[in-house]
Amino acid sequence: MSQAFDAAEASRRGVEMRRARANFKKALRLGQHRLVEVYDSAENPDTDPVIRGLRVEWFLRSIPGFGVTKTREVLERVGVSPTATLGGLRVRQRAALRIEVQNLYRRYLPHLRGVLVVLAGPSGVGKGTIVSWITSQYPEFVLSVSATTRPQRPGEREGEHYFFVSPHQFQSLIENGELLEWAIVHHEHHYGTPRAPVEALLDEGKNVILEIDVQGAKQVKRAMKRSVSVFVAPPSFEVLAERLEARGTENEAERTRRLGTAERELRRQREFDAVVINETVEEAGQSIVDLVLASQRAQATKE
Ligand code: 5GP
Repeated sequence: MSQAFDAAEASRRGVEMRRARANFKKALRLGQHRLVEVYDSAENPDTDPVIRGLRVEWFLRSIPGFGVTKTREVLERVGVSPTATLGGLRVRQRAALRIEVQNLYRRYLPHLRGVLVVLAGPSGVGKGTIVSWITSQYPEFVLSVSATTRPQRPGEREGEHYFFVSPHQFQSLIENGELLEWAIVHHEHHYGTPRAPVEALLDEGKNVILEIDVQGAKQVKRAMKRSVSVFVAPPSFEVLAERLEARGTENEAERTRRLGTAERELRRQREFDAVVINETVEEAGQSIVDLVLASQRAQATKE
């Protein structure tokens, strides 16, 4: 008697599980879940059995445009059986397949990733304040932390304002291809954007802001198709000089050097996707957010 009851219960659960799995696969196909996040979550024994029990083959085939043959090729390359489940992968297989999943996600589902926002403009124009406004109002926007050989200023924190590195360390970052872009700014110090954290944040769907100089902006534009570049301009050159002086973080020689760079940078604003004049922080910040969201919508309908 109790046997019969259990069988019925098990069958009901089986039906439920299959239905849940079908729904989940559909949601994956529709891009309602981020592939890499789902993949990573499957490692955790507490994750929903619907995810952990999903066959790796089905998981890969949920990527629009990724068919049976390509799926088999990937699985063969990493030595994973098509019938393996997401929750049942061995450590090495999991690590090897993760790289493939990440690459597929970036290649086939770029519209689910965040947008890279390049913000350039002369020193003292107020980029930092605008970025703080944007990230406090819109949590889906984050600022990338650059590496620099410039000495740390009082009040600056390692890993928050910059990663302060030696010229030797900076050189290794360049040589190992770990920088998305880099430049010598104000003819003096090296500054560069670490690539891996930016890519990881974009994978999470964050819009990543790079506050960099025009040389770096140009490199990013070439390397990253899905980016929006914005030049933040002052209302006038005089206003810029006044703001730089009022900020009081540089001595006169440094200010003169920065204004020299500013003059050269202002001449290059046409190389950007958009120019935003910083009259007020809120207006400038909102304009940048609107530009990014519009570009994201345009991409989503195109891809
Ligand atoms: P500061 O020394 O005042 O912190 O920064 C000087 C300038 O360096 C900034 O205005 C910004 O344009 C530029 N900068 C900061 N980080 C980067 C970076 O990662 N790459 C490039 N190319 N420029 C940067």
